[in-house]
Amino acid sequence: MGLIIRSSAIHAAGCYTTTAIRKGDRVAEYTGRRLSKAEADARYEDSPITYLFGLGDGAIVIDGHCTAMFINHSCNANCETSEVDDRIWITAIKNISPGDEITYDYCLYDGGDDKAICNCGAKTCCGSMYSKEEIKRRKDAARKALIKKPGKRKTDKKKKTLRA
Ligand SMILES: [Zn+2]
Repeated sequence: MGLIIRSSAIHAAGCYTTTAIRKGDRVAEYTGRRLSKAEADARYEDSPITYLFGLGDGAIVIDGHCTAMFINHSCNANCETSEVDDRIWITAIKNISPGDEITYDYCLYDGGDDKAICNCGAKTCCGSMYSKEEIKRRKDAARKALIKKPGKRKTDKKKKTLRA
């Protein structure tokens, strides 16, 4: 299996395969230093870009330092990630042709104010790189916030009538 990094239409750089990959094949492992969530938060507090992958309940994260960290998110991904004995594997969920970009669903969480807008270009793109649960949580939180906040009523803009 040959993975290369080159520019991607989805985001900056992406990971591509030079060989055919069969559905079910392990494509790569997401490796890097293990940090506690607190360590990662402190280290990347002001950093707009991180390559953190949460393990288990998220108390430990992998600070990506590997080929897999360049794999982009897609809402119509050809791979998925799984955790096996505290290791993260990227596995093909479709047959992938040589030259194709490798993608998986990031299922982001804990993104703070970041909207994590998705640019994957898939027909089924949901517009966000957050997990479905996180999207729902954020919507619910926004709804609650709307209830709590005093309502600012939008003033109707007066229609302008043009004179000939
Ligand atoms: Zn998308």
